[in-house]
Amino acid sequence: MLANLPALVTDLLRLSLWLLLLALVFLPLERLWAAHKQPLLRQGWLTDLGHYFVNGLLPALVLAPLLSLLALALHGLVPTGLHAWVAELPLGARIAAALVVGEIGFYWGHRLMHTVPWLWPFHAVHHSATDMDWLVNTRAHPFDMVFQRLCGYVPLYISGLAHPLAAGGDAVSIAVLLLGVVWGFFVHANVRWRFGPLEQLVATPAFHHWHHANDGPATLNKNYAALLPWVDRIFGSFYLPAQLPQHYGTDTPVPEHLIGQWLQPLGLTKDSAASGIRE
Ligand SMILES: [Zn+2]
Ligand SMILES: [Zn+2]
Repeated sequence: MLANLPALVTDLLRLSLWLLLLALVFLPLERLWAAHKQPLLRQGWLTDLGHYFVNGLLPALVLAPLLSLLALALHGLVPTGLHAWVAELPLGARIAAALVVGEIGFYWGHRLMHTVPWLWPFHAVHHSATDMDWLVNTRAHPFDMVFQRLCGYVPLYISGLAHPLAAGGDAVSIAVLLLGVVWGFFVHANVRWRFGPLEQLVATPAFHHWHHANDGPATLNKNYAALLPWVDRIFGSFYLPAQLPQHYGTDTPVPEHLIGQWLQPLGLTKDSAASGIRE
């Protein structure tokens, strides 16, 4: 335990620096171009800060060993000819292919979180935010975070586009992860920017705000994609009106505080009403 202390301190420092950087970028943008007027310290901000640090530490502790195990298990599933062909592709083509292949895995993982009754309470934590801003990106149950990342990465390992066993990670994994994380903060931001036809190609705050909308049944279970909205078009869940949503959140009861949000989906609190599909 003590031997791991320096690594933990380094990780906490790294996460604090990232937080500072993100706050320096997003706080002024949200002040200048707010989509909805809301206080800086809106409801749940402290809880989200807790999620930020826990979910920031988890990838190294839980996700990396899990991915390595999965990569070993999946290694033999695909003919080596495909892996050899993929390895010959230029880096740019591998990253572009990884963004599409990873998005399709992520899309279905995310859609399952919404439609499988026992998975939804884990994901309802993310949807419990009633005010949207960049920090809402971090509000996620650890199981939800790990499950969705796995769904995004497994197709990359099966296809040979990424290799979790490479020392220090490989360029494709790092590019996909970095873009995914930074874009995650961007699409949650409380900004009113619209991007015209570009919104059909790349996920924007308006696109993901509609994923969090709670403006009636027609607005639920839309826009699952993280980066590429046309994946939602292909699978019939695209929804992007000209205006922004009026209300965010979920009717599923979710505790306000961090510990409650971790325990409730596991059935470990007295109030376990959070079950059932979000329809
Ligand atoms: Zn969702
Ligand atoms: Zn979200």
